[in-house]
Amino acid sequence: MTHNKITLIGAGLVGALLATLLAQRGFSVEVFERRPDPRKFGFLGGRSINLALAERGWHGLRLAGLTAPLAPLAVMMRGRMVHARDGKTELLRYGRDDSEVIWSINRGSLNMALLDAAEVAGARIHFNQRLASVDWEKSTLLFVDENDGARYEHAARTLIGADGAGSTLRAAMAQKISLGERFEPLDHGYKELEIPRLLDLSGATFAQTHAHQRERGELFAMEPNALHIWPRGNYMCIALPNAKGNFTVTLFLPNTGEPSFTSVQTPAQVRALFARDFADAVPLIPDLEKDFAANPTALLGTLYLDRWRIDGRALLIGDAAHAIVPFHGQGMNCGFEDAVELTQIMENAANDTSAAFAEFERRRKPNTDAIAAMALENYVEMRDSVADAHFLLMRALERRLAERHPGHFLPRYWMVTFSRLPYVTAFARGEIQSTILRELTAGKSDLAQIDLAQADALIAARLPPLPSAPSK
Ligand SMILES: Cc1cc2nc3c(=O)[nH]c(=O)nc-3n(C[C@H](O)[C@H](O)[C@H](O)COP(=O)(O)OP(=O)(O)OC[C@H]3O[C@@H](n4cnc5c(N)ncnc54)[C@H](O)[C@@H]3O)c2cc1C
Repeated sequence: MTHNKITLIGAGLVGALLATLLAQRGFSVEVFERRPDPRKFGFLGGRSINLALAERGWHGLRLAGLTAPLAPLAVMMRGRMVHARDGKTELLRYGRDDSEVIWSINRGSLNMALLDAAEVAGARIHFNQRLASVDWEKSTLLFVDENDGARYEHAARTLIGADGAGSTLRAAMAQKISLGERFEPLDHGYKELEIPRLLDLSGATFAQTHAHQRERGELFAMEPNALHIWPRGNYMCIALPNAKGNFTVTLFLPNTGEPSFTSVQTPAQVRALFARDFADAVPLIPDLEKDFAANPTALLGTLYLDRWRIDGRALLIGDAAHAIVPFHGQGMNCGFEDAVELTQIMENAANDTSAAFAEFERRRKPNTDAIAAMALENYVEMRDSVADAHFLLMRALERRLAERHPGHFLPRYWMVTFSRLPYVTAFARGEIQSTILRELTAGKSDLAQIDLAQADALIAARLPPLPSAPSK
């Protein structure tokens, strides 16, 4: 069957995967990307430096044939390594064993592998070409060639916008119809810092504390196979390992108040915050004040739209349709799931693009709303609850009940991260389970005090069986 010609805006993570999957299935795919080709000119950053890749993301990469080339570039993270104020650390595992882990991967390496795959599959990618506007009457796009500033028109019938949270295609669609757009900013922002490789660290304090590791020839200055968290109530630091041996540290702070990105600005204020709250990280971040001043403070928020499409002519996907806060590490994973589902729908749509786009929106929207809500909730869990004794008791009970009721009582984190159960299912079952856990642990401080027979009865009464075995 000859498929429609698809014009894709944006060759970021989601655009490049979608281009690959569609081209592999015989679609004629043309992609326009505003930035230069990162394989020739270097990766120009964008959002976070590295990302947590989970099962939904790996599934998309598997379909694109990319697991083998990418696996060596990803660093396993078994759980959260929680750093207390006194420097003590504790690993809270994500899953039962090393089959239930997440992976840290460099955004640039991942994007470049996806661009290679898209071209091998037959997609044509035009770099340095920025979409400026759309003429819906003439069905033409206006592009700016970023090489020389030249403006030109390009005819396109079927448009897909994977051009990220600040999508130009979305703005153009909003001039034609109401998308019901609403952006809810988070009153917290973030800033990236760096813990270099062990061998690149020096200094007297550091030499004392890490001499043994260095003698053993270790590459990483901290445990590499973990997502490190310094939870401090209303704010936190996290650090994700990179395959080359350094860590990308992200400081999340409120935008105003104490401490905040308003109250912490000068080198002395930065040092004082870190000395008080993240003392064990200080010897590992030699360029703390310099990086703090040089790296941007970025804003976070959630984008909600009522509509993602204009009949069969234009559709939004990935962050362009549903940007979320990063606290579940699912934005890209969710965008990859979009790409997989859209490809399946389009392949079976007998060229009725309008029906395909409508079906995509119908299937995906409840799920992206669910992950948006769970991502917001997870911020509180990461920055605050992981340091709370009652929360830890609930997590321990959750694990116990998951063992007693396999395939039925599944921790919400497990459903989101290690399965491909719809997000909406994870959200709904998570709510029921959370109520059960709260009821059973009320006034208790130890697992031995929990009435497991009561737990079994509550689960049987309130948690319906899953329609099918959870996919992994
Ligand atoms: C701090 C932070 C940490 C994160 N951590 C994680 C994580 O651990 N795990 C996870 O799954 N997700 C994470 N995310 C979310 C993830 O970054 C996004 O969900 C993902 O990048 C979305 O991919 P995308 O392709 O839709 O958009 P983008 O990655 O933003 O790509 C959009 C592309 O479109 C191009 N473009 C933009 N405008 C135009 C135009 N006018 N014309 C042509 N091209 C254009 C851009 O240059 C870019 O290449 C994180 C996000 C942040 C901010």
